[in-house]
Amino acid sequence: MLNTLRSIVQDVVGAASFRAALDILVHDVRGALGTEVCSVYLMNRAQDRLLFAANEGLNTDSVGQISLAVNQGLVGLVAERAEPINLNNATVHPRFYLIPEIGEEAFHAFLGVPVIHHRQVLGVLVVQQRERRKFDESEEAFLVTLSARLATEVAHADATGEMEGLFDSDTGSVLERPDAMFKGVGGTPGIGIGIAVVVQPPANLEAVADKASDDVTTELQVLDRALNMVRDDIRRISEQFAASLPPEELALFDVYLHMLDENALAGDIRERVQKGSWAQGALKQVIYEHVQRFEDMEDPYLRERGADVKDLGLRVLAYLQDIRAKKTHFPDSTILVGEEVTAGMLADIPTDKLKGIVSVRGSVTSHVAILAQSLDIPAVMGAVDLPILSIDNRPLIVDGFYGEVFCNASAQTVKQFQELIASEQEFSEELEELKELKGVTLDGWRVGLWVNIGLTGIGRSLDRGAEGIGLFRTEIPFMTKERFPSEEEQRVIYREHMVAFEPKPVTMRTLDVGGDKALSYFPINEENPFLGWRGIRVTLDHPEIFMVQARAMLKANEGLKGDLRIMLPMITSISEVEEAMALVARAHREVLEEGVDVKQPQVGVMIEVPAAVYQARRLAGMVDFLAVGSNDLTQYMLAVDRNNPRVADLYQETHPAVLCALREVAKAASAEHTYLGICGELAGNPIGAVLLMAMGYHVLSMNSTNLPKVKWVIRNIKRSDARRMLARVLRMDTPQEVQRFMRQQLLDAGLGRVLPTHHE
Ligand code: PEP
Ligand code: MG
Repeated sequence: MLNTLRSIVQDVVGAASFRAALDILVHDVRGALGTEVCSVYLMNRAQDRLLFAANEGLNTDSVGQISLAVNQGLVGLVAERAEPINLNNATVHPRFYLIPEIGEEAFHAFLGVPVIHHRQVLGVLVVQQRERRKFDESEEAFLVTLSARLATEVAHADATGEMEGLFDSDTGSVLERPDAMFKGVGGTPGIGIGIAVVVQPPANLEAVADKASDDVTTELQVLDRALNMVRDDIRRISEQFAASLPPEELALFDVYLHMLDENALAGDIRERVQKGSWAQGALKQVIYEHVQRFEDMEDPYLRERGADVKDLGLRVLAYLQDIRAKKTHFPDSTILVGEEVTAGMLADIPTDKLKGIVSVRGSVTSHVAILAQSLDIPAVMGAVDLPILSIDNRPLIVDGFYGEVFCNASAQTVKQFQELIASEQEFSEELEELKELKGVTLDGWRVGLWVNIGLTGIGRSLDRGAEGIGLFRTEIPFMTKERFPSEEEQRVIYREHMVAFEPKPVTMRTLDVGGDKALSYFPINEENPFLGWRGIRVTLDHPEIFMVQARAMLKANEGLKGDLRIMLPMITSISEVEEAMALVARAHREVLEEGVDVKQPQVGVMIEVPAAVYQARRLAGMVDFLAVGSNDLTQYMLAVDRNNPRVADLYQETHPAVLCALREVAKAASAEHTYLGICGELAGNPIGAVLLMAMGYHVLSMNSTNLPKVKWVIRNIKRSDARRMLARVLRMDTPQEVQRFMRQQLLDAGLGRVLPTHHE
């Protein structure tokens, strides 16, 4: 059974078109179950009718011609009930409805199974037989399994418009639909309007044949020339970006150059050429192997690096084939679209022309998303349903706030988005004036507005008025290396930030790997990584890593006026804090013994797991500060993987249970007079910021993009009003209710400008 199922799925998924997939499906199912008839009906939501979309065994002339209302016939009943119906004699059922053209009157046995995706009935799969018999349990189960398995394919066809094309041959492409919208995830907030330029990889690795070389020496020479040309290109690109990108991102171009090193890709390719392969074939094999290695990695950041390797490979291939990437014309407002947009593609476009980026693959952790954030270019990642082959040169709108891409936008939609861009622009100019001002409410309540650092630049954070670093994600410098960075390497990076921020406080988090963050040189393979060896658990088991890091942090602060705060991630037990504090104290003693004169650092605990919420008071009594990691706290409170798109709509930072936990932590910190901060995404969300300020959080730490808006809302609200809102919110049952109420409150208070306006 399993093999049959697998082979049907493979055939269907591999079909050239959706139409062909449906034909294959009915053919294969008929064969697998040995039944006389198999049909697929698809839901036309615009008309609320089920179209007879594919068939074997009945009159196939009717395919695509006839349809049933949802309240008509047994097929309608399956859709209505959203459950299977299995009958030995369909013709006597009260809902039996005869469509004479189909010719089904002779068939008695009927089994209909709904095709459901995300709770929505997309169609019905039916098998029929002359003989009066009930399909047996295993046949029914087989069809239910198959239908559930194929539902995502049908949903994809629905989203791309292929399904609609079956309903009406005049509808044309989905792109002709007014305001056709494709969903992805927001990469960089903001709106971009422009013309799509679809970028293709310059050459095609798949098309390269494996063959032996005639002349090893010539092949090696050609290879060297191509490698050098690509190296020159990368240096040129890096120089082009030198002014607009912070050093840590520019360093990624060095990573590219290292990848092309004799010790890495270049050496491997050369070895194969020396063994007799022609250069292009050797390149293809080596690139495939390396891409595979990256794709096998657990860590999404590193997995994305596979795309960079492939991009490099294609660049080398282009030179090998002597087909220099042909110069594309870039309109003044370019929206760069690609199956997999890479940093190299981005670099070919003059920055002032680039208004938006859409990548079919990738996520917020993709290198290109990181670059887009640094350049402040609106970006949508993972727009999987975008029909990329037919989109070139069409006007597009990129909504990086909501992760949506619009094609064929009506004049009215364009106008709405233009107004949105203008008001965002005007607002951000206005917000620049707040740069030197403090985060203080109208009734004088002071809130520290700090920044989270890891991949975004120092300069931008200070420009936006950050009053300190609330979270330095130290794992990032660890990720860009090929081994643990040494104490001195760490000290240099940390000090650069501390000097730039002096005399503002800087909060350094100890290494937080595990979960979805892995190091290539220190892999952690686990069944349940988020419940496994992560954060403080790793560094307490490896005190040598902890000690080197703590000493680097302490030394980095030598002679500076700013407070050094060391923060411990993923704390679940008191003993972990005791052990970590003992290590910090020892590191401090050692550093003093070495003659480096530094103050005792402040030590704080992150509240990221429910256990820490329940022990918050005890923890608060032990340390200098508490800081909630609301991203993880939400994930663990609600048991929702924060990276899983399938359950993304269940990940609710304003879930009443999460708000209640946040409030408990605030009470515990206040009872112990302990300084309290928060550094998850909730702090950078204006609604979250107002509620947290009302709860008594002293510091809100967020990414620098959100900081000005949060400062504006804090400066324009009274804490007494925020507390009244909080009191109401704490009695609510659902996150939706909380969101609705808070949106309305902010609108009523004249603060609606901080709420992202959705295109209606
Ligand atoms: C958090 O969990 O909220 C947090 C700030 O840490 P990270 O997102 O790095 O896990
Ligand atoms: Mg965390």
